[in-house]
Amino acid sequence: MHRREFLLKGATAGAGFLASTGLQGQEGSGSSNSGEVVIISTWPFGKDANQAALEILSSGGSCLDAVEKGVMTAEANPAIQSVGFGGLPNRSGVGELDAAIQDGRSFESGAVCALQGVRHPIQVARAVLNHSPHLVIVGEGAREFATARGFGVEETLSDKAKEAYERWVKKNPGKDGPAEGHDTLGLVALDSTGHICAACTTSGMAWKHPGRVGDSPLLGHGLYADDQAGGCVATGDGEEITRVCGSFLVVEKMRQGATPEEAISDTLDRIAQRSPKGSNVHASFVAIRADGVSGAGSMRQGFHQAVTRSNETKVITVPAHIESTRK
Ligand code: ASP
Repeated sequence: MHRREFLLKGATAGAGFLASTGLQGQEGSGSSNSGEVVIISTWPFGKDANQAALEILSSGGSCLDAVEKGVMTAEANPAIQSVGFGGLPNRSGVGELDAAIQDGRSFESGAVCALQGVRHPIQVARAVLNHSPHLVIVGEGAREFATARGFGVEETLSDKAKEAYERWVKKNPGKDGPAEGHDTLGLVALDSTGHICAACTTSGMAWKHPGRVGDSPLLGHGLYADDQAGGCVATGDGEEITRVCGSFLVVEKMRQGATPEEAISDTLDRIAQRSPKGSNVHASFVAIRADGVSGAGSMRQGFHQAVTRSNETKVITVPAHIESTRK
């Protein structure tokens, strides 16, 4: 059964759920943007991603194509040690990649987790969205799905990543050192019609336990998009972001009228309150509200957002979050 057919069958039950949660009543708040294209992403390497996404939108391409092609730039770049081909492997020396994509109008999404042997996991996530009745496919099943869709199995570890692993094993012969070093390229695009899409791609935490999945490929945690409210993506300690449904929380706060920065600031407070590590957590978010206002926030210093407006992309330093006294 095709994905669309599958979803339509469930639509009646879905409407009941929305009414019972009161979410339907919130819908009037969105889609009042002025027609301006806005693209936002995580980290300085987001700049290339934004530019690739902008090219797609400027030539009349779709919002989903824009976010997919945008994040592919980092997946192909061996200099980036936290995404795609350059990403550092798990503790067994195997690259396992996570990626997800979501359409904020249809709410269709696709994700792959712990995918081995494919350099562009976001393309497989898009294939899940387009061709599978499921939202998330993991591990060996994800590779099987990718192979069946015609993706070739390739080397996914750069030479630099292999060397880094060898150095780590020398220092940790028992392969039991802590997981460390991680980032995600997350990107949100608002097109000129007010349509919002989001995508994320990461190799997760370096030296993670095989099969470990963080927030990035999980809807509501690493990414969330809703044309009626806004879109958000996350980067940082996946276990802590997942604990509070980070990206969903930011979007819901924007739906209630918060600016992206207020919504992110409240979410960082929530993480600090709920995490056993308190505010000693890596967590950063970038978001666009449905009216085109964008913003970012980060628990710690060192985070940058890449923002594209009026065809110009800037990388902007994001100051560290100051915990609110509001609880
Ligand atoms: N959130 C990612 C993960 O936990 C890593 C990161 O973005 O820093 O896998």
